[in-house]
Amino acid sequence: MDFDLIIVGGGLAGASVAAALQGSRFRVALVEPHPPVVADGWDSRVYAVSPSSAEFLREIGIWQHLDAGRIAPVQKMSIHGDAGGTLEFSAYDSGLPELAWIVESGRIHRELWETVRRQHNVTMLGGSVPDSMTIERDAVALGFSDRKPVYGRLVVGADGVNSWVRTRAGIDAEITPYEEKGVVANFRCEHDHRNRAFQWFRPDGILALLPLPGRMVSMVWSCANGHADLLLALDAETLARRVGEAAGGVLGALELVSVAQAFPLRFMRVASPVKARVALVGDAAHAIHPLSGHGINLGFQDARALAQALKALPPWRDPGDIAVLRGYARTRAEEPFLLQYTTHGLNRLFGSGNPIMSALRNAGLNLTDRLPVVRNALVRYAVSGRF
Ligand SMILES: Cc1cc2nc3c(=O)[nH]c(=O)nc-3n(C[C@H](O)[C@H](O)[C@H](O)COP(=O)(O)OP(=O)(O)OC[C@H]3O[C@@H](n4cnc5c(N)ncnc54)[C@H](O)[C@@H]3O)c2cc1C
Repeated sequence: MDFDLIIVGGGLAGASVAAALQGSRFRVALVEPHPPVVADGWDSRVYAVSPSSAEFLREIGIWQHLDAGRIAPVQKMSIHGDAGGTLEFSAYDSGLPELAWIVESGRIHRELWETVRRQHNVTMLGGSVPDSMTIERDAVALGFSDRKPVYGRLVVGADGVNSWVRTRAGIDAEITPYEEKGVVANFRCEHDHRNRAFQWFRPDGILALLPLPGRMVSMVWSCANGHADLLLALDAETLARRVGEAAGGVLGALELVSVAQAFPLRFMRVASPVKARVALVGDAAHAIHPLSGHGINLGFQDARALAQALKALPPWRDPGDIAVLRGYARTRAEEPFLLQYTTHGLNRLFGSGNPIMSALRNAGLNLTDRLPVVRNALVRYAVSGRF
């Protein structure tokens, strides 16, 4: 057998599975055609990394190597409804040092990639992607057009929301496009954000401004495809003015400091992320609306759970055994399900033009704001996955 694990997809989820297996007895292949790209200036793709994901990244030796000067803690979060509803979360009130950290995508990816490349138990298979997958009783074989097939005991599908591994393994997925895009861009702001994240549920989409170090913020505006295309077509000054107005001027005048980009949004769920010799992690296993900022946080927890399940095996146990993989699936059953449906429900609730729904959702925000126990329980769930 060539490898114990073949990880297909070296994005953040796949690379973190490999990194979490450092020092283990497993021989790992990582198949990824594209090395990380690090932006020259500030990456317009950022993640709100939860404290439990930061803890995982520290465990696998990534977090401590990130440039602290490029990471912003989130101390407070203000959520505004479309008719006066407001909800405020604060790390201090919830007894936490911070609610999340805002980190650039390319920089976490590069650190993961460099860590994995230094690992003795990992072979990087770059360049091409597999074109066939055969699941046998004792092994799985991946074929390539330009190299010999590779054999492993377990294939890990970490190849994103359109996962080739998932399709080849015959794992059915429920996919619902939101018909929306997430438009991302960074802005310099006139007023200090004081490490506060903002989110507005607006008739034209959900606008989030996340704090970056200094007087900068990163925007995610999730909106209907047509509106996203309109935003992308605006010149820098008009876009900055439009975002500043949508934000009610809370941060004063804005200045665009990166290229605006858009990503299609979809909901995707599988009945089970495993079958014999196959396990899915990250967006290959679940795709979630970015309004809760949880997609890669779920992916990191998948990576952590899968690596823990494998490292706990005695040497004679087969890592591709379905009984082993079902254990991993059980530990990951609740968190993605709850977050996916809560986020999906919120998106639908705030997407409705019905005035009764509008009154209800704004009243709901105000009521939650006045119930500190509920509010703080929500914060704890959001940052740790536990009430
Ligand atoms: C606008 C927006 C904002 C977001 N904000 C947040 C946030 O604040 N916090 C958060 O937690 N999440 C956020 N997310 C979600 C997050 O981006 C995803 O959950 C995350 O990128 C998924 O990582 P992944 O490694 O599973 O998949 P991907 O990032 O899609 O990586 C898949 C990898 O597989 C490789 N690949 C694909 N096919 C093959 C193949 N056939 N063979 C080999 N390799 C292959 C690709 O090259 C890629 O490197 C956001 C998403 C969007 C769209």
